[in-house]
Amino acid sequence: MRDAFDAVIVGSGPNGLTAAAVLARAGRRVLVLEAADTIGGGARTDEFFGRGTRTDICSVVHPTGYASPAFEDLRLAEHGLTWLVPDVSLAHVADGDTIGIHRDSADTAMELGADMDRWRRLVQAADPVDVAGQILAMPAVPRTRVMRMAGFGAAAVLPVDMLARTFATGRVATVFAGIAAHAGRPLSSPGSSAAGLLLGMLAATGWPIAVGGSQAIADALVSVIVASGGRVETGCEVTELGQLPTGCDLLFDTSPDLVATLFADRLGHRYARALRRFSYGDGTCKVDFVLTEPIPWSARPDLMSRTATFHLADDVAQIRRTEEDVAAGRIPERPWVLGGEPTRIDPSRAPIGTHLAWAYCHVPAGCDVDVSDRIVDEIERRAPGFRDTIAHVRVTRATDLERHDANYVGGDINCGAASLSQLLARPVLSSTPQVTGVDGVYLCSSATAPGGGVHGMSGYRAARAVLARS
Ligand SMILES: Cc1cc2nc3c(=O)[nH]c(=O)nc-3n(C[C@H](O)[C@H](O)[C@H](O)COP(=O)(O)OP(=O)(O)OC[C@H]3O[C@@H](n4cnc5c(N)ncnc54)[C@H](O)[C@@H]3O)c2cc1C
Repeated sequence: MRDAFDAVIVGSGPNGLTAAAVLARAGRRVLVLEAADTIGGGARTDEFFGRGTRTDICSVVHPTGYASPAFEDLRLAEHGLTWLVPDVSLAHVADGDTIGIHRDSADTAMELGADMDRWRRLVQAADPVDVAGQILAMPAVPRTRVMRMAGFGAAAVLPVDMLARTFATGRVATVFAGIAAHAGRPLSSPGSSAAGLLLGMLAATGWPIAVGGSQAIADALVSVIVASGGRVETGCEVTELGQLPTGCDLLFDTSPDLVATLFADRLGHRYARALRRFSYGDGTCKVDFVLTEPIPWSARPDLMSRTATFHLADDVAQIRRTEEDVAAGRIPERPWVLGGEPTRIDPSRAPIGTHLAWAYCHVPAGCDVDVSDRIVDEIERRAPGFRDTIAHVRVTRATDLERHDANYVGGDINCGAASLSQLLARPVLSSTPQVTGVDGVYLCSSATAPGGGVHGMSGYRAARAVLARS
């Protein structure tokens, strides 16, 4: 029966589902094969804490999803996806100093004081969604936008350490470094500013969460697929070519390793070499909490109640040390932490009287160590009494992440390091790096440009390459 399909997509993460949705909507007969028992890859929500307690296993906050041209094109709102966009995109909690980055730039200006001009010049754009769309489409940039994108690219290649020094105050430098360090790169490394520039710019649009959890994004994509006659099968891990039909397009929302193995003798020299050299990033250890009350932040509790996202680091040095330690294979003594309290913005995720929070920090690739104590310490430091509010905890170590989703090699949540070379060539330098060179075979996961995040743009670009060819 599988021969009845025009395209088979392996993997049901946001990229695989987006590719399938675009192809199905264009009239192609599509089948998605997913290894896990549930769909969504990094956009899955589970009730492991109990019925009605909806925890995002991986992604929670969606600045790039909200700005994604792919999701916009697929009209996911008509398929049940509703965004909740907090006024405060993120709160950075240092020791005794909490700073909010708001959607409203006048409010952000009040927070940043003398550094607002610098912030504006570095990360603000008149039309952030449009600019983000261009960035997510890079390196394929329309000729009319080349100059503008060149400006972004010139700043993005700089190390965080260099851009952070241009702020007058250490506190704002720390906010910028925290946003940039989502990418998990040493702050001295070229290209480490890229995530800071993109996500910082999108703070003016909003860092939203999806009503009911990130699963709503995957479910909306499946709804587009099914409405267009496509099919999704779970519990079907693809390990050899014999499982797949011949004579149809094959799109892999997987790690590059699988494509390299399955097509070892057919890949062109250039693509094969790129996949061999592809490098994965550091790991992540995540902790999910059920709380009896919201986190009792000692500073600015009102601000903290208006955001879904917090960053915890006293200064740039704490972030620098964390990322340097991790890159050197050491577990950081006092990691910088990022996290959030989704029920502050979406109370529907938990029964009345219970609250959800999550937090993670970077750890060395393949790290099997539970570092939840260090994460809890960092929260407790800024919210004395936090420990007493914890009703249930679930720790997901870097090695657990890879078991959960094979794309997270060594616990790398982006399926590929955000090094400068892989910002430019992911995995090859091309306007369609999803095209492997093997006829009808595409790599469409976040191992291809534009990289990590729930935005579906790698899948979107792969699907458009399929449609452009025939
Ligand atoms: C802890 C964590 C927190 C994150 N937080 C955020 C966040 O807040 N915001 C954000 O935008 N991004 C976040 N991310 C990153 C984001 O989830 C990923 O970048 C995104 O999901 C990548 O999408 P994808 O479709 O490329 O791959 P994935 O979402 O990883 O999906 C790949 C799918 O393919 C399946 N698969 C793999 N191999 C096979 C095979 N051989 N056969 C069949 N199926 C296979 C996997 O089971 C999986 O379902 C986070 C990730 C993690 C792990």
